[in-house]
Amino acid sequence: MLSPEFLSASNRLTVDLNALADNWRSMNARSGKARAAAVLKADAYGLGIDEAAPALYASGARDFFVANAEEGADLRPLVPEARIYILAGMWPGNEPLFFDNDLVPVINSEEQLAVFMAALSERGDHPCVLHVDTGMNRLGLTVEEAVALANDPARPASFSPVLIMSHLACADDPGNPLNDYQLRRFREATGAFEGVDASLANSGGVFLGNDYHFELTRPGIAVYGGEAVNDVVNPMKPVVTAEARIIQVRTVVSGGHASYGASARFNRDSRIATVAVGYADGYHRSVSGGGVTLRQATPSGAFGFLHGQKVPHVGRVTMDLSLFDVTDLPENAVRPGDYIELFGRHIAVDDVARAGGTIGYEMLTSLGRRYERHYVGAV
Ligand SMILES: *Cc1c(COP(=O)(O)O)cnc(C)c1O
Repeated sequence: MLSPEFLSASNRLTVDLNALADNWRSMNARSGKARAAAVLKADAYGLGIDEAAPALYASGARDFFVANAEEGADLRPLVPEARIYILAGMWPGNEPLFFDNDLVPVINSEEQLAVFMAALSERGDHPCVLHVDTGMNRLGLTVEEAVALANDPARPASFSPVLIMSHLACADDPGNPLNDYQLRRFREATGAFEGVDASLANSGGVFLGNDYHFELTRPGIAVYGGEAVNDVVNPMKPVVTAEARIIQVRTVVSGGHASYGASARFNRDSRIATVAVGYADGYHRSVSGGGVTLRQATPSGAFGFLHGQKVPHVGRVTMDLSLFDVTDLPENAVRPGDYIELFGRHIAVDDVARAGGTIGYEMLTSLGRRYERHYVGAV
């Protein structure tokens, strides 16, 4: 049932929880013998953990990764039985969040290991994940540090990670030799921790094949319907549809212009729809049809979808408003109050992202607060 607020909303976001669940099941199946976790950081990539987490749990996910302990504490009541891993790990001072909410810290450095060991001696046993850097050079112990830790006779018996993990730098690029290199380095580390589960693959890594799966995979973007691998057809179902309302339709005569900087120029009599969406809604200024630096590199800005047809953005995206050229639609087809799809079923979020020189991840996590959210699909 669509609420009256939803029907009257300026902007609306529809999240298809069935598609979300199908995508997770698909990634779980593609993970072979491994089980798939789900990555729920940044409010489930902008979709909303309150709805996404229970839907993923219902479809079978039992392992969830979030960025920090605060996100973990928010997630805990939604999935009381699940294992929740905290990618940023433990700080001096936030230990209680881990112990009170049963959150598993990822240990990313020798310093974090010391913080964790001190917390253990004060509060008793607690699970942890050991992060090993195999080539990304972002977070994790070096392979040598991890192997030394495994073989350290002075290693406290209380230190027993439930998972060894690493993160791939080039999983979206299957031909990149760094993938194979990281896999070999990761095996050196996991070899030192006999019997401990291992996890290497994000979404792109799942598509690299069985060698990369180990015991647990960590798909994020693919579960939300985004592209995980460059230059191949995205096999996932779209999950999010973003729509905004047309406020006004106006005519500009041939030779005329519109938008800031008079950046949209028209060489025919044109009909322009002014839409209630802007960069404050995560419709980035860089996706503008014209008048921004990026258009010198890639000629085409974003398209919207309206009455069965793609329509180009023209001029600059502004804070709250965007212009689309609807001249090619039948006269009188476009009316104030109509919704235009910004991305979703007809326009891939990754296509809009490409027009703005960015990635679907960034589009989704910058949606902002001005969309009325509607969740569809039984869970
Ligand atoms: C975000 C993240 C993931 C998920 O990556 P996707 O590319 O969205 O599948 C997996 N592992 C780590 C460490 C991450 O930070």
